[in-house]
Amino acid sequence: MGKTTLARIIAKALNCETGVTPTPCGRCAACTEIDGGRFVDLLELDAASNTQVDNMRELLENALYAPTAGRYKVYIIDEVHMLSRSAFNAMLKTLEEPPQHVKFILATTEPQRVPVTVLSRCLQFSLKRIPQQQIAGRLQHILEAEGIRCEPAALPLITRAAQGSMRDALSLLDQAIAHGGGSVTQESVRAMLGVIGQDHLYSILRALAARDGAALVAEAERMAERSLSFDAALQDLASLLHRLSLAQAVPETIGEDDPDRDTISELAGCIPADDLQLHYQIAIQGRSDLGLAPDEQAGFTMTLLRMLAFAPAGQGATVGASGTARGAGGPVPAAGPKKNRDDRDWQQTVDQLGLTGMARVLAQHCELVTRDAGRVELRIAQAHQHLLDGPFQQRLKAALEQHFGASLRVTIQVVPDASGAPAAIADRGRQQRQEQAIAGIERDPFVRELVEGFDARVIESSIKPAPSSDGKQ
Ligand SMILES: [Zn+2]
Repeated sequence: MGKTTLARIIAKALNCETGVTPTPCGRCAACTEIDGGRFVDLLELDAASNTQVDNMRELLENALYAPTAGRYKVYIIDEVHMLSRSAFNAMLKTLEEPPQHVKFILATTEPQRVPVTVLSRCLQFSLKRIPQQQIAGRLQHILEAEGIRCEPAALPLITRAAQGSMRDALSLLDQAIAHGGGSVTQESVRAMLGVIGQDHLYSILRALAARDGAALVAEAERMAERSLSFDAALQDLASLLHRLSLAQAVPETIGEDDPDRDTISELAGCIPADDLQLHYQIAIQGRSDLGLAPDEQAGFTMTLLRMLAFAPAGQGATVGASGTARGAGGPVPAAGPKKNRDDRDWQQTVDQLGLTGMARVLAQHCELVTRDAGRVELRIAQAHQHLLDGPFQQRLKAALEQHFGASLRVTIQVVPDASGAPAAIADRGRQQRQEQAIAGIERDPFVRELVEGFDARVIESSIKPAPSSDGKQ
């Protein structure tokens, strides 16, 4: 984290007018122009939107010319793993015999996707994520300097969503200020990030601790009425269980100023450590099974009931007796699966838009939030926000207007996770089919005989799901 900032510091160190130095002066023309983004010999390229070999060729041809103002021409290629194979090949020749006056700084979050031939010619630095507390401190400082009111409970939500990136934290804070109309409140940040209110999760854990099946199911009903994402709920539940386990093992991990401190201590005190471990395991597994469930609410409810059923001291669970539990796992209840249904509708809409290329990719990575006569509100996962850079948003808007026959305001919000996006749903489906295929092979009596009798080994990566649904293969 801090990749591009570090790259700019290196550019200054190479071009500072005081000479090549580990401590650039920060005052000379080169230093100030680099800081201001005006230095002619520093070229930043976002590989995510310039994947093609032609972009790379143009850049490399340019690299042959001597620098205009500085000592070195510095090329920063961000998200370099997004380059096409031919773009990498074009770059490789220059990396093998680089002109004296050129330095390449390649930044990536996924070095494993950069060809080894390129990696082997690079000096590599691994940057750490910035600790949440440090990010929170910085945000706090900015809020105070700007005189913006902020609820203490809102900041941890932002720092958690930023996942160690200061830039993301700053841009989320910016959005939160706009979203909250000038102040930052816990509720508006939750709404903006699509985060489940912790209160739902606390109720669930209290019900689990009390072994109260009826209360568990009722809580899932309440969440369904508010159309909350059950996938996100399971993720947040797992992350809360993780915090509880940490609080039990290392109590200092709950900060003095943590707004959830009291509740965390209360729950950590009433759920045994081995229950927490089991619940966590079941939450994670439940999340990966969600796509196979008859509907998301059923999948979620079954996951909670599994936590109840498998709790080590399992006695006195009230599931069967309450009667409420049966309905929820069975036929589709009226209120629950609206969000499901919405995801499917959006998927169909995307298929009918007739989009191609990157605009289609953008649509597939978007999740529908709301739609009415004059407005379509979408959201996209942070990981894919680079798709918003190009002209694809305009093409998507035009296609939607044509599809719905009206002029529309189309907004796309960046959120940590858009699990309802068609691409995400398809991805989960593929993953599940793959897991089923692996399980099928491992259960196969002939394969087992080979494994047991001949010390054979199944190479999981070679297993592919069968193409047809009726074939037993
Ligand atoms: Zn300088």
